[in-house]
Amino acid sequence: MILLNLTLAKGHIVALRLTLLLVMMSEAPPEGVKYTVPIKQVEKSVKITDQAKAELQSSGMMDEKGKLKIKGVSPKMLKRMKLEAVDCPVLNREIGFLQCYVCKNFFSRPMGKVYCKGDPL
Ligand code: SF4
Repeated sequence: MILLNLTLAKGHIVALRLTLLLVMMSEAPPEGVKYTVPIKQVEKSVKITDQAKAELQSSGMMDEKGKLKIKGVSPKMLKRMKLEAVDCPVLNREIGFLQCYVCKNFFSRPMGKVYCKGDPL
């Protein structure tokens, strides 16, 4: 990729990057992923269940007072994540993204979607 960048003109580099981005975006989900779930914006944050709170606390992402602290995620980003949700295909209901993030089925979050393993919960 670096070699290609050095030998191509600027316009070609942009076109090449766009092509690579489109290829990456249209890629099939990784092995073990059953669902690709779009992340949607919600007006009001979706309540985190007690079970998810316990998981967040045990993994050190929430303190005893219920305040979220995820390493590498700024307070501004956390605030934004609270207003994101997914329509969970396993539980068949809307789940806040933070709860989805600590779910054992969570695989990864590529742009605007969640890769979900889809195992029964
Ligand atoms: S990772 Fe968990 S919460 Fe998120 S969509 Fe999959 S099953 Fe639902």
